[in-house]
Amino acid sequence: MMKVNPTVKKIAFLIWFLMVPAGLWFTYKTYPPHLSDNWVDLLAFLLLTTVVAVMPIVINDVFIFVIQWVALATFLRFGLFVEILYAQFAVIALLLKLKVLQKGQLFRLPLNLIMFFLVSFFSGLIYYLLGGQVRPNLSGVPHSLWLAVIYIVLYYSLNQIIISFNLYVIYKSKEPYFGKDFFVETITTLITFPIGFVLYILYNQVGLLAIIFVGVPFVSLSIIFNLYYSSEKINEYLQKAAEIGHQMAERLQVDDVVNLFIQKLCEMLPVDYAYILEVSDNELKLIRHIEAGEVSINELPAFKKDDGIVGTTWSKQKAVFYTARMQWRGIPMNYIPGDVESILCVPIVKSKNVIGVLLLASKRKRAYEKYQLMIVDILCSYFAVAMENAKHYERTKMQSERCALTKLYNYRYFEKVLNEEFERLTTFERNMLSLIILDIDHFKQINDTYGHQSGNEILCELANRLDKLIANRGTVARYGGEEFVVLLPDVTKEDALQMAELIRQSIANWPFTLQQSMDQKQQQVKITVSIGVATAPENAEDALALIRHADRALYVGAKRAGRNRVAEYSSC
Ligand code: GH3
Ligand code: MG
Ligand code: MG
Repeated sequence: MMKVNPTVKKIAFLIWFLMVPAGLWFTYKTYPPHLSDNWVDLLAFLLLTTVVAVMPIVINDVFIFVIQWVALATFLRFGLFVEILYAQFAVIALLLKLKVLQKGQLFRLPLNLIMFFLVSFFSGLIYYLLGGQVRPNLSGVPHSLWLAVIYIVLYYSLNQIIISFNLYVIYKSKEPYFGKDFFVETITTLITFPIGFVLYILYNQVGLLAIIFVGVPFVSLSIIFNLYYSSEKINEYLQKAAEIGHQMAERLQVDDVVNLFIQKLCEMLPVDYAYILEVSDNELKLIRHIEAGEVSINELPAFKKDDGIVGTTWSKQKAVFYTARMQWRGIPMNYIPGDVESILCVPIVKSKNVIGVLLLASKRKRAYEKYQLMIVDILCSYFAVAMENAKHYERTKMQSERCALTKLYNYRYFEKVLNEEFERLTTFERNMLSLIILDIDHFKQINDTYGHQSGNEILCELANRLDKLIANRGTVARYGGEEFVVLLPDVTKEDALQMAELIRQSIANWPFTLQQSMDQKQQQVKITVSIGVATAPENAEDALALIRHADRALYVGAKRAGRNRVAEYSSC
């Protein structure tokens, strides 16, 4: 929304109060209105003005206020005073209909009233000064038709000047003036003004019936036009939704799908706050939210079924739609901040199961419309499918890259990384590459003593210790059986040996705890490992040689020398 100077907001009412009543009084005195017509006719014109006012034509999200033709007929028939007065009513009716007069926006009423007053007043005044009359005989005196045309041109030009003043000075807009809106508005004005002449001429001849002859078709056409426009708009949204669905389907990572979903929602709809929650362990857990334009993955409390808006959306499997705060008063709001007015809360459903909940909120009243709920609903089902695919992909990838028991990378993945790292070595992206290989000492005995299951537990805990120790300095993998490897890019042999020694101590010095030993009691087991270290390029020229040489160091230098030790490869 465009920014408006607060002083303008304050003095708008004051200016209206100083200007409009005085202007009306002046007009009444100088150009007394012709009120000899019966009051029914005056009321009928007022009714027509209001009906046309509340039916603006919407094109490209711009409201086009097509009241000028009624204003023209009113002006010609009843004079300036009535026209000014009716235009003021028209503005009030339109703003009420558009529901723009919310808190902080009230200044728009006096601002628009002043604008319309100025347009009515000056174009009318100039018309009279040029010799124009009330109730001119348009068909009899050609001169009077020209004056009426001048009135129209004045009315339209003044309107444009004042609108641009409003846009550029008060709203400080940076849009180009002669844009599409200007074009569309000029065309509609050109098309509708002749209807004003027709209404005036016809009214002179057939009276009130003229309002029906002219007003009914016009209003019906506007209704049809707006219906057509809104179905066009829904079509456009559906197309966008399908496109977003395709884009989400292409994403393979769960995080990417969530990010795209939330980003597109914020682009499509007025969103101040957005929350995506996922059902897991019978709770609704927040996986992503946006507050004041900031994406966040902070952990916030989870919700149970029936807990607040998101909890009931989950349990009832039904979307919730609120347009103002008073509608949701009393319902626990979960995290939603207090300044929210409009809410859209939609269950994310996959095969009749709620797998999550989406909540969108805006600080504006009536920010969302019913059809948008439908679009969001469709998007949520695309999202559900894309999420399931991405999860499946991540699971498959995990299974193909990791060992099921220890969750470390498997040999296949390790080999891939090793080859890639060697590639970098040959292109001088890396200076060296160290490899640590370790084997548990006398593991067969451990299996024999405590059972295979306990052996597995030891493998898992050892994997854990290795993973923590190396963290992001290298790649830890299960090489096979009870053998593990650590690949350390850009780590010197000395540093690798140091790390290996640290690994050896962290295993030998801290016993392993067995939970499922044969006699069902916790048991502490001490184990040791033998370790071999080799570094490329000093010890090896290709990937296989690096493994072979580290392995040789392990068996010759460590195992044969008595186990529980670290050995480096030496060619001699
Ligand atoms: P050392 O290496 O000190 O020479 O003696 P070792 O007893 O460890 O000998 P070796 O390396 O030949 O034996 C490996 C043993 O590890 C054989 C196998 O029973 C056991 N093992 C291999 N994979 C697994 C596994 O996944 N789980 C369990 N529990 N044991 C395994
Ligand atoms: Mg072995
Ligand atoms: Mg062994």
